[in-house]
Amino acid sequence: MTRTELKSKRPKSFIALRTAEELHALIDTVPDAMVISDHDGAIQSFSRGAQNMFGYAEHEVIGENVSLLMPSPDREGHDQYMHKYLETGAAKIIGIGRVTTARHRDGSTFPIKLAVGDLKLADQRGFVAYIRDLSESRETERELHTLQNELAHVSRISSMGSLATSLAHELNQPLTAVTNYAHSARDLLADPSLENIKLVREAMDECANQALRAGQIVHRLRDFIKHGETDRQVASLGRIIQEASALALMNGDGQGVDFETELDAAADEVLVDPVQVQQVVLNLIRNALEAMHESRHKQLRVQTERVASRFAQITVADSGPGMNQKVAERLFHPFNTSKADGMGLGLSICHTIVQSHNGKIWVEKSELGGTAFHFTIPLAEVENGQD
Ligand code: ADP
Repeated sequence: MTRTELKSKRPKSFIALRTAEELHALIDTVPDAMVISDHDGAIQSFSRGAQNMFGYAEHEVIGENVSLLMPSPDREGHDQYMHKYLETGAAKIIGIGRVTTARHRDGSTFPIKLAVGDLKLADQRGFVAYIRDLSESRETERELHTLQNELAHVSRISSMGSLATSLAHELNQPLTAVTNYAHSARDLLADPSLENIKLVREAMDECANQALRAGQIVHRLRDFIKHGETDRQVASLGRIIQEASALALMNGDGQGVDFETELDAAADEVLVDPVQVQQVVLNLIRNALEAMHESRHKQLRVQTERVASRFAQITVADSGPGMNQKVAERLFHPFNTSKADGMGLGLSICHTIVQSHNGKIWVEKSELGGTAFHFTIPLAEVENGQD
C-alpha cells in the first residue's frame, strides 16, 4: 500500500471509531493498565488490564478518586498534587514516568512503572495513567535494570563479598598469632622463672601488636566503604524511599505484607548520596521482610520526620519477632548474622553509610510488635523555604 493510499484510508477507519464503547474496546486491548480520570481525579474509564491488575470491576471505581489505587502517603497527597499541577504546571510524574508502588483491592502493595499523560480535549481536561505491574520477576528485571544499575547494589555486594573473603584471610593471620603467643605464655607461666617471665612479656607485646594489626585491617574495610564514591546532592527522600520500596517488593517478596509509608513533607529535601541512602532503606526493608517471613501478621511501616538540627529521621518498623539477642549484642558489626545464608554485612554497611553522612542509626522495639530501625541524614539547607 502506498503512503497516499494509507493516508486516505486512515482517517475514515478512525472516524468510525467514535462511540464510547468502541473507544473502550480499543482501550481494553492495551496490555498494561490504563486509567482515565477527569481533572478532579474522578475515574472515567478503567481498562480491562486495570481491572485485572487492581482487582476492581470497572463499575465499582467509576467516579471514585484515583487515589484509591495508591498506598499512603500518595493517597492522601494526591489531590493537593493535582491541584498544584493544574495551577502551576509543576510536574513530578506527569510526562516523566517513574517506578513507584500501587495498592491492590486486597490492600497489598505492589511495584509499578507509572506514566501519566495530560489529556487536553476541546472542552475538558483529564489525565491518563499507564501502569505496568513490576511484580513479575522477568518484567521487573528488565524495567528495574537502570534503577538497579544506578544502585550498583549487585556490584557493591559482590565486591563486598570478595573483600570479605580477603578480610577473613588477612584477619586469620594475626588471630592465629595471638592464639599461639597466648598459649606459649600460659605454658611458660607454669615455671615462672625470671627468664620465662621475660619471654612471657615479649609474647604479650607480640599479642598486642597482632591485635592492633587486626584492628587496622578492620579499619581498612571501613575506610574502603566510607571513601567509596560519595556523591552528595539535594534529593527527594520520598522518592528514594519509593524506589527502594519498589525494589524490595520485587519478585512478590511483599506478599501478604501490609506495607505503609508515612512521609513528612518537611523532611523531604535531603543532602545525601541518594544511591547510598537508597541502599540503607533497601537493606532495612529487606531485613524486615525476611524477619517477618514466618509471622502471621505482617506489617511494615516506613516513616520520615523532621527532627532537631536539620535532620530527617527515617524509621523502618516491622511486626516480626524482634532481634535475636546474640545479634543485638554486636549490632552493626560485620559478619554478625542469625541467617544460615546471611553475610551479616548489611547492617554494618548501613552503619558506615549513615555515619559518613554525619547521621546516626539505632534500633528499638517497634510499636508494631517487632523491630524498628531509625536513622538520621542531613536535610538540604533551603534558603527561603521554597520547595
Ligand atoms: P544478614 O541479613 O546477611 O544477616 P544484616 O547485617 O543485614 O545481615 O543483618 C544482621 C542480622 O540482624 C540478621 O541476621 C538478623 O538476625 C538481624 N536483623 C536485622 N534486621 C532485623 C529485623 N528487622 N528484625 C529482626 N532481626 C533483624
